[in-house]
Amino acid sequence: MTAPRGIEGLAKNEKSKLLADLKAKAQNRRERDGDEPAMLETAPVGPRAFDFSTMPQHKQLRMMAAAAELSGIANPFFHVHEGRAGATTLCGNRTLLNFASYNYLGLNGHPEVSAAAKAAIDRYGTTVSASRLVAGERPIHHELEMALARLHGTEDAVVFVSGHATNVSTIGHLMGPKDLILCDALSHNSIVEGTRMSGATRLMFAHNDLDALEEHLTRTRSRHERCLIVVEGLYSMDGDMPDLKRLVNIKRRHDAWLMVDEAHSAGVLGAHGRGLAEEQGVDPNEIEIWMGTLSKSFAAAGGYIAGSHALIEILKAGAPGFVFSVGFPPALAGAAIKSIELLEREPWRAQKIRTNAKLFLELCREAGLDTGTAINAAVVPVIIGDSTSAVMCANRLYEAGVNVLPIIFPAVPEKQARLRFFITAEHDEAQIRETVAIVDREIRQMRTEMPAWKRLAGGGWPASTPQRQDL
Ligand code: PMP
Repeated sequence: MTAPRGIEGLAKNEKSKLLADLKAKAQNRRERDGDEPAMLETAPVGPRAFDFSTMPQHKQLRMMAAAAELSGIANPFFHVHEGRAGATTLCGNRTLLNFASYNYLGLNGHPEVSAAAKAAIDRYGTTVSASRLVAGERPIHHELEMALARLHGTEDAVVFVSGHATNVSTIGHLMGPKDLILCDALSHNSIVEGTRMSGATRLMFAHNDLDALEEHLTRTRSRHERCLIVVEGLYSMDGDMPDLKRLVNIKRRHDAWLMVDEAHSAGVLGAHGRGLAEEQGVDPNEIEIWMGTLSKSFAAAGGYIAGSHALIEILKAGAPGFVFSVGFPPALAGAAIKSIELLEREPWRAQKIRTNAKLFLELCREAGLDTGTAINAAVVPVIIGDSTSAVMCANRLYEAGVNVLPIIFPAVPEKQARLRFFITAEHDEAQIRETVAIVDREIRQMRTEMPAWKRLAGGGWPASTPQRQDL
């Protein structure tokens, strides 16, 4: 890979040669035209914009690309999807079985959802062109927020233009340097960035280990003013969920607030897709802050917070990602409102995800694949082992007609690299059976070829996947 270089990137002799060439060219021109274009002589070698290819981050990217090229491993990321990605997707003119999209309820491209987005454009245009505080407020924002409050059973809700910014802004705005935030070790980056922005003391407890959470609280709670516990409704790497009843009990005893990120559980958990509270029979008003994204179950983009009126008023008045950012785009609001209505009308969609995931898990387990702690919900990992093996496995599956992405170090510990399957309401039984058969076949085949690629890539076959040793 050759990156363009600025004059600063040139070696001394290259620089002198370039200057000499330019001077000679200018002299020729002077002789030919008989004028004195002094500026032309110096302009091409004057100061240039900074050359980012000299940064260590860029050098590292080039090294990684070179290493992958040497070992013949294709980049599994940035595949271009040439149309709507559903249970199948078109990539490079091939139709693949698709397990890499968050389209959990299968509503992206649903005729009613697309029509609602188009109707919103017809009424409001494609943007509201300002923060909602100034000129950006539209009736459709209120409609969407009421639909979200209804879904979560809370008093109110507020939408942000990005799910990531929702967590950063909300946590960053509500908490301060005298406070304590405890989050699960597998928390999403947006939660971690929010705690950083707040300046609060942050403690991570081992994934889903509520005993460890209690220990931290017992030891440190009294040293801080406010305290926030943050968990996810369905963890996006492991596909498991926390014990909400116990969390409510813990937060009450330790005078803490509880925030649940339902990015992967809204529309998925509970008989009607209302999320973790419905799944575990907990009153949603026991939880201070419900967070969710509109990019997964709800066929749009952006994020939201659902909770009490007072909480929403505080965020609308001061959360930077709301106050200093443009109002939610009308088309996406239309799409999300219709998606929520469809979920309310057709709860079978949420139930179908679970039936599909149950079948997928059963088949994986029968094949001896390691699905970790996954429950039968929208995220199911197949743990492969080291990162190189996971990438190679994803590439093989892509060639064999299955689109699934590898999750590698540092997103997960090196020996826990995995393929992450997103199971949706749109998949059917035949697709799930075919996929698990292909995954099983390719993993077995890869294992038999191991010595060759192990030498090339310096990788190793799973060291910590006991269920896999019978393969
Ligand atoms: N929270 C969690 C748990 C997530 O997985 C994600 C992203 N997938 C986000 C927040 C950020 O959401 P978005 O991609 O909509 O910005």
